[in-house]
Amino acid sequence: MPEYPHSIGSKLPKIGTTIFTVMSKLAQKHNAINLSQGFPDFPVDPLLIDLVSKYMRQGYNQYPPMAGVMSLRETISGKMEKAYGVQYDPDSEITVTAGGTQAIFTAINALIGEGDEVILFTPAYDCYAPAIELVGGKPVYVQLKSGDYSIDWKQVKKVVTRHTKMILINSPQNPTGAVIGTKDIQELIKITKDNDIIILSDEVYEHIVFDGERHLSMAGYPELANRSLIVYSFGKTFHVTGWKTGYVVGPKNLMHEFRKVHQFNVFTANAPIQYALAEYMSEPSRYMGVAEMYQRKRDVFLSAVSASRFKLKPSKGTYFQLLDYSAISEEEDQDFAVRLTADFQVASIPISVFYHNPVQDHVLRFCFAKEEDTLLRAGEILSKI
Ligand code: GLN
Repeated sequence: MPEYPHSIGSKLPKIGTTIFTVMSKLAQKHNAINLSQGFPDFPVDPLLIDLVSKYMRQGYNQYPPMAGVMSLRETISGKMEKAYGVQYDPDSEITVTAGGTQAIFTAINALIGEGDEVILFTPAYDCYAPAIELVGGKPVYVQLKSGDYSIDWKQVKKVVTRHTKMILINSPQNPTGAVIGTKDIQELIKITKDNDIIILSDEVYEHIVFDGERHLSMAGYPELANRSLIVYSFGKTFHVTGWKTGYVVGPKNLMHEFRKVHQFNVFTANAPIQYALAEYMSEPSRYMGVAEMYQRKRDVFLSAVSASRFKLKPSKGTYFQLLDYSAISEEEDQDFAVRLTADFQVASIPISVFYHNPVQDHVLRFCFAKEEDTLLRAGEILSKI
């Protein structure tokens, strides 16, 4: 096909293809163990598969309601109450989405306009800033503290202006595996006390928090819950990232605006999957137990690389582990990640791409949502480098 013969410019001139696609493709090309893009390589519970198939066979194959299947919204409401002690009205405060990324994109589209500032923390998940820029908003970057990747609240205070419309929180944090604590919650309450700043909280790894810690949700704090849209993901919790199903909860007025955009963005999400998830989630142990499973995997991976020259950064949540390779090479992380994939057949994600100002931590992100055997094979290779 000959190219379009006119100049088109670009709404995102600095953006290429997302690093997750780039590294997964490279992993495939070199037949590498793919610990780059975050997705589980182990089977989905057959019961969940049977339920989807049951609902497909029963004829649940047409558009579900715009905001999502009611039985699923009711189950989500029950989960929010059990997990965070707060009631969300299934009718007006919960919307099912086509995954977390769509939820974030839609929330930003619905709430951010020309010149609005959105504070986000780097290294930041890569879909945030482009969504803000596409609607004429201004991403305001605050770098997480080096070392433990905690939030530098002094810095946050410095960048809050009368144009600050939103703070984007992500805990457990992708890519670092850091989680927020009660001090962060207190700071957030203080900073939003006398203004109308909205919080967009990406909590898709809510159930994957380790070492006996508890996930702190915006939902659990009334002063924050009433200004927060919170994003969750079934893909992360039930190892079905390819089903692209998630949801958003928030107070009625924020949700009302969210739905105005959602209805014209995707209209609704996959019907049989929603019915299946509603039935599957009626048993809370099916989602409350995943942290244990992932902690085991994290520990298998950690012990498999413990004798290597990689230095571990603590992973407190998510299914990602950061490894510092500065004892091995001074190469920039993008180069090192490519070499590791091509020459050693282990693919990972370079962290520098998630910063606004170029920062070179010499750190790579490895996904441990994999079969133990995969983790052991990767560990063996990494230990020889
Ligand atoms: N959330 C996944 C990760 O962090 C990537 C999802 C995607 O490829 N868009 O690896």
